[in-house]
Amino acid sequence: MHLERLVAVKHDAHGYWLEEAPAIELVPELGGERTADVVVVGGGYTGMWAAWHLKQLEPEVRVVLLDAGRCGFGPSGRNGGFCNVMWFSLPNMRGRWGDAGALAVARAAQAAATEIGEFCAEEEVDAWYTPGGYLQVSTAEAHDSKWAEALTACQELGVGDAIQPLTPAQVAERCASPAFRGGAFYPDAATVQPARLALGLRERLRERGVEVYERSSVTRLAGSSHGVEAHTAGGVVRARSAVLAVGAAAKAPGGPLRNSLTVASSHIVLTEPVPELLEEVGWTGGECITDSRALIDYFRTTPDGRIAFGWGGGRIAMGARLHGRSEIDAEVVSQAASHLWDYFPGLEGCAITHAWGGPIDASPTHLPLVLPLRGSRTFVAAGYTGNGVGPSHMVGRTLASLILDRRDDPSRLAFVDPSPPRMPPEPFHWLGGEAIRAGILRKENAELAGGTPDPISSLVSRIPQLIGFHIGR
Ligand SMILES: Cc1cc2nc3c(=O)[nH]c(=O)nc-3n(C[C@H](O)[C@H](O)[C@H](O)COP(=O)(O)OP(=O)(O)OC[C@H]3O[C@@H](n4cnc5c(N)ncnc54)[C@H](O)[C@@H]3O)c2cc1C
Repeated sequence: MHLERLVAVKHDAHGYWLEEAPAIELVPELGGERTADVVVVGGGYTGMWAAWHLKQLEPEVRVVLLDAGRCGFGPSGRNGGFCNVMWFSLPNMRGRWGDAGALAVARAAQAAATEIGEFCAEEEVDAWYTPGGYLQVSTAEAHDSKWAEALTACQELGVGDAIQPLTPAQVAERCASPAFRGGAFYPDAATVQPARLALGLRERLRERGVEVYERSSVTRLAGSSHGVEAHTAGGVVRARSAVLAVGAAAKAPGGPLRNSLTVASSHIVLTEPVPELLEEVGWTGGECITDSRALIDYFRTTPDGRIAFGWGGGRIAMGARLHGRSEIDAEVVSQAASHLWDYFPGLEGCAITHAWGGPIDASPTHLPLVLPLRGSRTFVAAGYTGNGVGPSHMVGRTLASLILDRRDDPSRLAFVDPSPPRMPPEPFHWLGGEAIRAGILRKENAELAGGTPDPISSLVSRIPQLIGFHIGR
């Protein structure tokens, strides 16, 4: 595993993007009582885009946003920065929501990715928005047609341009690796520097009059005669409505999605600048790339020629344990690094400078969820399953419509679901999740080595599908 090559790495929870992003002013903790029209709990992309859209739709609306730590310091400021559209999920969405429902969400996700670019340009947020498209490659014979269903679905629904199949030679023109075979290109995707986007959005919210309080963990969110009360250790916000956008924390005991989320984790390693290598392999178009595994490898470049390489194979957390190995896991990081070196052998002798990780909130459908809570005007959103950068803008728009009681298209998108599928309770959920993860890992390692997976691993890796859950895209 070449662990000795990782000795000088700066390995922490927050990672390079937050270190690189320009410093921002601290804001106070909540103290005393505040009133508002809307209280947003959670300052990741979902909560912040919801606040942004609320202010865009009704500039006079009074919004208070509370974050337990600092806005954007959770997964929203640490992710891979793939601003993906959801065409690869079209078969999954079609199966659940029908053609019209699936197409409406996919189109909204495509618009969201474009609108994030427009936000960056218009609001002068330099988040390195790069509309370079997304390249999905196969790295094993067993993965050679992983995009076929998405391609067929796009063609059947009249959006054939959303995905272009590529031969091995065409893949090599975009990025040459001895491990890559054929692939598919999704032109509508982009990349961002995730922390610059999150912190830029936080600043624009404050300029628009959103009251932001940090280090203000909401310990109780309850219906009241006014609407909703959000309590922290230092104060309370009374509002007519609430958005609960706390990511993986929605799985916490007593949390509204405790039985509808799995908390896994993902970890990233970052190289020193290697612009010559990128020239040599022809990876200069800004594409974000993944392989076609369920435990996905994802990688992208930076303007100074680094490679950020992530692996979505981190451990399942028991309940909603968001810290510990969900954030810092040397073993998973060393596996991510070994995949990086397999894919780019030319990195021999180059340093990895940073490593970090974070929790992934996965829904049983692998699609985002918006849940209206009974008994109060509160809407909960989570469950992006490692694909929240672009879609959180779309979900934020839906939340704003729901809060403002607008009966418009965003409010009717099919992921608004009052009774999402449920997972088994803990500890069965964790035990089952880890067993399935181990089965998928063994199966995919055999496939990558060109062998045949053992029948037990193949069977175990199919359990989620057999019980109606989704794995992969
Ligand atoms: C390593 C990694 C790589 C990823 N790569 C990609 C990628 O390339 N592309 C992609 O699309 N997605 C990726 N993701 C997923 C993406 O980051 C998430 O889907 C997205 O950030 C979710 O945003 P969110 O606002 O819903 O949640 P979060 O970013 O988790 O924000 C939730 C916020 O709620 C706050 N909070 C929690 N509890 C409370 C409380 N009680 N009171 C107040 N505040 C609270 C937290 O402090 C946090 O700031 C990745 C994730 C990780 C960890």
